[in-house]
Amino acid sequence: MINDFTFLSHEKLRDRLYLIRECYLNPENIFNIYVVPGADKTGIFDTGLGVTSGLRSYIERNITAGPKPMHAYMTHVDLDHSGGAILFDEACMNERELPKLAWNLNVKRRLSDLGVFCKNNREVLQYCEEHYLHNEGIAFQNIDDGDLIDLGGVKFEVIKLPGHTPGSLVYYNRAENYVLGGDAIQLHNTCQRCRDLKESVFYYERFIKRMPEDVIIYTGHERSHLTLAAARDIRNGMQEILAGRTEEDTPSGMPFPCIDPEELDYDVKEHKCGQVSVIYDANTLK
Ligand SMILES: [Zn+2]
Repeated sequence: MINDFTFLSHEKLRDRLYLIRECYLNPENIFNIYVVPGADKTGIFDTGLGVTSGLRSYIERNITAGPKPMHAYMTHVDLDHSGGAILFDEACMNERELPKLAWNLNVKRRLSDLGVFCKNNREVLQYCEEHYLHNEGIAFQNIDDGDLIDLGGVKFEVIKLPGHTPGSLVYYNRAENYVLGGDAIQLHNTCQRCRDLKESVFYYERFIKRMPEDVIIYTGHERSHLTLAAARDIRNGMQEILAGRTEEDTPSGMPFPCIDPEELDYDVKEHKCGQVSVIYDANTLK
C-alpha cells in the first residue's frame, strides 16, 4: 500500500547533513532534498515535488525531532524543488524566481510532470491526486547573493548562480567545504530558459574563483557529488556557445507534455563540454 513515506528514503552524508531522496518509481528521476540540523533551527534545502504531504513528518521521524523551527531554502522555483515548501515554518527563495511561481505551483502541471516521473503508474498518480499539497497561498521570503544563513553552529553563504533559472542560488558551507548546488551545477544542465548567457558566465567564473579546489558539490538530481571540474566545464561550455563554437550541437527537448507557453518557440540545442552538457536556446544567440 502506498503511503506518504513510500517515495522517500534517506542517508546520512555527514554529521550534520542528511540527504532525502524522493523517487516515484522511475530511477532516472530522483529529487535530492538536503536536511541540516542546526542548534537553533533545521535547514531544509529544496523540498521536492509536494505531491504527497509527508516530507516534514518524515524528517521529524527519521532525522530530527523536537521543537526547533524548520526553515526551507530553495535553490530555485522549479516544481521539483519548491513543491513541499509550504510544510515548513519559513520558506526562502530569490525574488527573480517569483514570475514563474504560479506556473510551478499549478496542480495540473505538477501532476502531469509526475506522470513522467512515475512512468504513468495508475496507482501512484491516483494516490498523489488525492494527497498532493495545496500550496497556492505560500509566501516566500527573499534571499539573495551575500546573505548568510545561520542555523546555530552551521552557517551557509548564499551565492547567486543564474543559468538554469534567473534566480538560482547555491549554498556554501565554508567550515565543512561543501556546496548545496540544486540544478545550477549538474552533468546535464538545462539552461534553455537563460536569456543572458554572458551574465551566467560572469557568475560561474566568480563562483569558481571563490571556491577551494577540493570543494564538494551536492546537486539536485545526481546520485553522487560533483567537483569544481563540473562547474568549470559548464562555464567553458557557455563560453564556447557564446563564441559560436556550436557546429556539433544537437537538437534537444524535454520529456514533459505540459510546456510553458513562453518556451514553445525555443530552438533548444545541446552543447557538450568535458563531462557536462549545456542545453540552451539558440534563438538567444541571434
Ligand atoms: Zn530540478
